[in-house]
Amino acid sequence: MASLRIDLHTHSTKSDGTDTPEGLIAAAAAAKLDVVALTDHDTTGGWDAAAAVLPTGMQLVRGAEFSCVSATGRGGRDVAVHLLGYLFDPTHSTIVAEQVRLRSERLERLHRMVAKMAADGYPVDAETVLSFLPDGASAGRPHLARALVAAGVVGSVNEAFVKLLNNGSPYYMPMSDTPVGTAIDMVRAAGGVAVFAHPLARLRGRCVEPSVIVELASAGLAGVEVDHPDHAPADRALLRGLAADLDLVVTGSSDYHGTNKTTPMGAETTAPEAFEELVSRTAGVGVLSG
Ligand code: AMP
Ligand code: FE
Ligand code: FE
Ligand code: ZN
Repeated sequence: MASLRIDLHTHSTKSDGTDTPEGLIAAAAAAKLDVVALTDHDTTGGWDAAAAVLPTGMQLVRGAEFSCVSATGRGGRDVAVHLLGYLFDPTHSTIVAEQVRLRSERLERLHRMVAKMAADGYPVDAETVLSFLPDGASAGRPHLARALVAAGVVGSVNEAFVKLLNNGSPYYMPMSDTPVGTAIDMVRAAGGVAVFAHPLARLRGRCVEPSVIVELASAGLAGVEVDHPDHAPADRALLRGLAADLDLVVTGSSDYHGTNKTTPMGAETTAPEAFEELVSRTAGVGVLSG
């Protein structure tokens, strides 16, 4: 039998992707995936809709990408980092409370970014930005980016980030994210496993030093996303070596966002043994089979 095709990081319209959860499962089938994880930012709101349309033979890993903050490991200011949590109990009270808080932070921060851009003369307003955000979804910069595209300020979501919304831009506003060690504890307490998402996506801004990954490994981190579209070959090699030394599971994922990004579903994948190892460390909700 051919090896399973496994993509452990995707986003739907419940956060900043453009496919509904149902559409995302259809896209996973079209990409000939055997296993797909739904990992919206700070919400589990798409889990049930995705599960309801799971085709025979496909497996769904229910997860989320948590907005976190970390020290860089070399002094300096803290950096925003993302943590993938898989197969945790979505009713765990700490997780529920923290996700509610983060979604509220996201919305408030988006309003502040819009106000700052409008004050500088950009043709954006909250109403237009919110028209790209379904009720209850996690707000993010891509929603503002789409409003900027619609207004003709930029030609694409990517151009909006490069010119106006990246982490170094005057319009970028940080939010009050969860300390990454706390987020790992929270995911584990709810029976899940935690994987460090795209730790060396350098184009997005400053990243952590390897020493931080060493510390997090002893604090319960289970894996590290090595094969990611935003990782350079040298950084993948560095992370692979680090993972081997620290006994961390190596994952690979597309970080699919529908048309908000150009990467197709299944562009990067995770080895079946790595997937099995992650699942074996969970005690929350199981992998769903269609
Ligand atoms: P936020 O969650 O509001 O901080 O926005 C970060 C999100 O923006 C990431 O999760 C990505 O989905 C998206 N993003 C970052 N850089 C780009 C880019 N160059 N093009 C498209 N989307 C991007
Ligand atoms: Fe995103
Ligand atoms: Fe991310
Ligand atoms: Zn992501």
